[in-house]
This record gives sequence, C-alpha cells and structure tokens, in this order.
Amino acid sequence: MPVNWNDIDTVLLDMDGTLLDRHFDDHFWLEHVPKRYAAKHHLTVEEVKEKLYAMFRSQEKTLNWTDLDYWSHQLGLDIPMLKQEVDHLIAVHPDVIEFLDFLRSRQKGVHLVTNAHGKTLSLKMKKTRLGSYFDTIVSAHDLGLPKEDVAFWGRLQEKIPFDPSRTMLGEDSETNLGTAAAYGIRYLIFVSSSNSQLPAAPSGQFLSVNTFGELLPER
Ligand SMILES: [Mg+2]
Repeated sequence: MPVNWNDIDTVLLDMDGTLLDRHFDDHFWLEHVPKRYAAKHHLTVEEVKEKLYAMFRSQEKTLNWTDLDYWSHQLGLDIPMLKQEVDHLIAVHPDVIEFLDFLRSRQKGVHLVTNAHGKTLSLKMKKTRLGSYFDTIVSAHDLGLPKEDVAFWGRLQEKIPFDPSRTMLGEDSETNLGTAAAYGIRYLIFVSSSNSQLPAAPSGQFLSVNTFGELLPER
C-alpha cells in the first residue's frame, strides 16, 4: 500500500478528472461548444475550433478558465444550458465510491476542492449524488484564486483547518500538485486515468494511481 492511513487526517480531492471522468469536460469544450458556436454563426466546426481553442488556451490557469458566466459572455452562448445537453456523459470514476466510503469509515476529514464554477458543481453533484460524502465542498471561485496559485492553499486553510503534514491531495493536475507541494502538503497523489477515452498517463513527479482502489487496504 503506497500510503499509511494512520499518518493522514485530512483528504482533499479534486473533482474533474480525479473523481469524475474528464471525458465529459473534454468533449464539452473541445467538441460540443465548437459545434454549437459554428451552428450559431453558420461556420464549419473545423473553422471555429482553431479560434475557440486559442481563446480557451489564453485563459489557462486562471479562474476564467472554469467561469461559465465568463464563457457565456465571451461566446454568446448559454454555457450552463449547453452542459445540460451532454450531461449524460458525467460519470464517476471506478473505485471512487468505495474510496469515499473507506475514508468515511476511518473518520478522515474529506473535502472536495475544485476550480470548477458553482454552476458546474451543482450540475455535477446533482448528476452524481457525491455531495454527501464531503465535509466541505470548496470552489476556487469562492476563494478568489485558482489551485494553480500557491497562495490558494493558504486561503483554503483559513476555511478548512488542516495540518499540511497530515494531509493528502488527490489531483489529475501536476501543476496543482506542485503548488500544494510548495505549500507543504505532504501526501500527493496523481490520478493517471483522468479521461476514460484516453490511455493512462502517469506522472513522472508524483505517486500515480489509475484508480483510488490502489490506495485501499487489501480486503
Ligand atoms: Mg482536475
């Protein structure tokens, strides 16, 4: 077993790609939004993809990246409504429920910590019914900084008391694990199968698991 659970009191978990299949998000932004945008402007999907992908990239690692209101405004589309059109793709990764049940049985503090916007969070919690597994659900939009910023973790600590030396973070972003490491969070787990439609891609830097089942004690 790669972690000793007696050393960990608090577990912070990312949502998209970590607990939930990133296939939904990738499909939504890379295929569905271009399709709707192209239809609205009487252009081909291929024509608009290049333009939209460049717009998306320009906001990487900022809160705008996940701000549905920002994108509704920028693109002139009702982004929350478009998400509902493909919400059948929202899916929980294998072993996640077992892992959350295990954490609860061991009385760990379990917190969902996501860059996702409030509107994305409510859609996903409604679809997956995962909400009751968490002591706290924190959107970076409420803290005013994305996880890509080291100062995020200090702001989080004001909201959720945790001892970084006894805390685990599960993420599918090496950048966010890097800022957490810089802040002093000790147990860092990278989820290498974030999108079920793509091959697993383990991190060269952080302990990687395909599913959280790998962190459960032998049964
Ligand atoms: Mg993620």
